[in-house]
Amino acid sequence: MSRGDMAKPLLGHRSMEGDPDSTPAASRTIGVLGSGDFARSLAIRLVCSGFKVVVGSRNPKRKASLFPSAAEVTFQAEAVKKTDIIFVAVFREHYSTLCDLADVLAGKILVDVSNNTEINHHKESNAEYLASLFPACTVVKGFNVVSAWTLQSGARDGNKQVLICSNNQEAKRTVAEIAQLMGFTPVDMGCMSSACEIENIPLRLLPAWKIPIFLALGLFLCFFTYNLIRQVIHPYIREQKNKLYKIPIEVVNTTLPCVAYVMLSLVYLPGVLAACLQLYHGTKYRRFPDWLDQWLQHRKQIGLLSFFCAALHAVYSFCLPMRRSHRYQLIETAVKQAVEKKMNVWVEEEVWRMEIYISVGIIALGLLSLLAITSLPSIANSLNWREFSFIQSTLGFIALVISTLHTLTYGWSRAFDENQYKFYLPPTYTLTLLVPCTVILAKVIFNLPCIQQRLLRIRRGWEKGRYVKFVLPSATGEYSSGETSSNV
Ligand code: NAP
Repeated sequence: MSRGDMAKPLLGHRSMEGDPDSTPAASRTIGVLGSGDFARSLAIRLVCSGFKVVVGSRNPKRKASLFPSAAEVTFQAEAVKKTDIIFVAVFREHYSTLCDLADVLAGKILVDVSNNTEINHHKESNAEYLASLFPACTVVKGFNVVSAWTLQSGARDGNKQVLICSNNQEAKRTVAEIAQLMGFTPVDMGCMSSACEIENIPLRLLPAWKIPIFLALGLFLCFFTYNLIRQVIHPYIREQKNKLYKIPIEVVNTTLPCVAYVMLSLVYLPGVLAACLQLYHGTKYRRFPDWLDQWLQHRKQIGLLSFFCAALHAVYSFCLPMRRSHRYQLIETAVKQAVEKKMNVWVEEEVWRMEIYISVGIIALGLLSLLAITSLPSIANSLNWREFSFIQSTLGFIALVISTLHTLTYGWSRAFDENQYKFYLPPTYTLTLLVPCTVILAKVIFNLPCIQQRLLRIRRGWEKGRYVKFVLPSATGEYSSGETSSNV
């Protein structure tokens, strides 16, 4: 971006007319200490959002050309004097070098934007450390979860949330207003003790995805090994046939649907277990075990990974006829048939099996795509609760049933063919059916009227063995009250 471009507000000044309580953004001056990547991006975004910006640098002359011309770049002490809100865009290690400014900073709001290089690197958070160095200032933690890149490109292209915490409500509100005017969504994280947690957020690598990814990798490894034994090792040991070429595509392509299918059933299994526990204890007010809680929270990620594996399976399947091995096998079969003078190779049952199996597979993938798309926050936010739960719960379960049909039509009668039991190992698809069929059976049982009603009552607050007040009309038409067990 050229200097001239940077001077031009990208978003223009936001009209504050009609909001008499708000201070017009343009009338506020915001200070930024530091002239690095973050300070520069912050200054650009603030200028674009209509604020006056004053940047405090140790070397303003050298750094001025890096900032939009609308921002004033001056010495640190000069900058601090001109504003009451200062973003400290300096690393924690250099906070102590700002101590000379303590007098001019007194009574002002300091926004700590810093991050660490390791989780829980220091005993106290950076924001608490800054507050201890400047006790006469009010420190607000915020903006550290937003990258310099997001600031520069605008909130539209990046994470919109800005997590804020402080012990001073007023200061927190002021910083939240600034964030909002910059196009971000401020999220109140409470008091300063949350700073440590906020500072750890940018350092965590896919925290919600760790367990689902390990689960998917674990399943992949198990099924891959199983398929490798059946498709490559067995023919080598029994017939001395080299089938290693099958590993990159065929073995992977028989493994992927197994992982996708089992993962999809694992999205619905914790719901079944939760319902069983509620029925067993006769209450919904008893906490689930931690492992089940964790599992319930990871359902979205497990579902998305299931979709990912299913999509890969579809792509791999498309590529199967492109392989050289496939072409050679096709020619070999054709030659054999010609030698044997076989004219009609059409097997009606096989044709139907394949047609149904592929069609059902496509429908299952379509439904999984729908589930994946509606789990994206921007789409999920546009749905009401009923729509969301219909798609994720009802359509999701239908996807599981259709995937089961896909698996069954793929397997057809192979489970009863003894040639399919390599080293006495049953075909892979029979193993994958175990969990999904359990889930489907459990769902069917839960839909039996007697069980469904009990579950519904529990979910509306009814508890087994709990005594409740009741009011009954007496024979005379008067009402008498008493206590009974709701269990009766
Ligand atoms: P940077 O490019 O290295 O800038 C740091 C600035 O600190 C320097 O330009 C320097 O400006 C100033 N500074 C003041 N006293 C200093 C001293 N004694 N020694 C060295 N520099 C001193 O770093 P940055 O990427 O902008 O990051 C600044 C802060 O923002 C950090 O706390 C970081 O954790 C946080 N942050 C950065 C990002 C990001 O995407 N970059 C994202 C979130 C949070 P002068 O020479 O002009 O004084």
